[in-house]
Amino acid sequence: MARLIIMGPPGSGKGTQAEHIARHFGIPAISTGDLFRAHVRDKTELGLEAGGYMERGEFVPDHVTTDMLKLRMEEADAADGFLLDGYPRTVIQIGALDEMLAARGQPLEAVLALTAADDELLARMLRRAHEQGRSDDTEAVIQRRLELYRDETQPVLTAYSNRGILLPLDGSGERETITTAAIAAVERALAA
Ligand code: AMP
Repeated sequence: MARLIIMGPPGSGKGTQAEHIARHFGIPAISTGDLFRAHVRDKTELGLEAGGYMERGEFVPDHVTTDMLKLRMEEADAADGFLLDGYPRTVIQIGALDEMLAARGQPLEAVLALTAADDELLARMLRRAHEQGRSDDTEAVIQRRLELYRDETQPVLTAYSNRGILLPLDGSGERETITTAAIAAVERALAA
């Protein structure tokens, strides 16, 4: 079973891609953003804590995010394979994930990295804000999220690239075309 990560700036379509790619490989797509949004919706203690950060486009603190992810990873469906969407987003989180996977004896197999031009990202996010009413999709917050991606998450891409497991993928164009390319890239990596 595949153990994968999908990365990409906000608005790159990584959530949608994650769903399709995970279905192909028969693994759960685990999105920390979706987990947080469920907590906010259910007004849990964690949701109350995370919600403020999310509204401002800031990252939720590493330890809070990692504790939540650990619990999700312990569920049966994620025992042998998973596609992480939105984690790790900081270099600290890489270390936390490494520890988690080392304890399970499970190396990471591939990291998909979607790319797209900033103007396309902004347009997609403003469209999504309109369609879904996400409170973190206003223009100022979007700019902050793009900035954090550049400053905090690009170094994560560099780290995985240095490990030789990064699979860069053009994230502009048709959804199906990108999914097909992503699946092919992962299959090549798994066979190597
Ligand atoms: P997303 O749906 O992946 O764009 O995530 C929405 C929001 O959830 C982010 O803007 C952060 O506030 C928070 N979040 C999701 N994943 C993480 C993470 N790995 N580390 C910190 N904050 C996160």
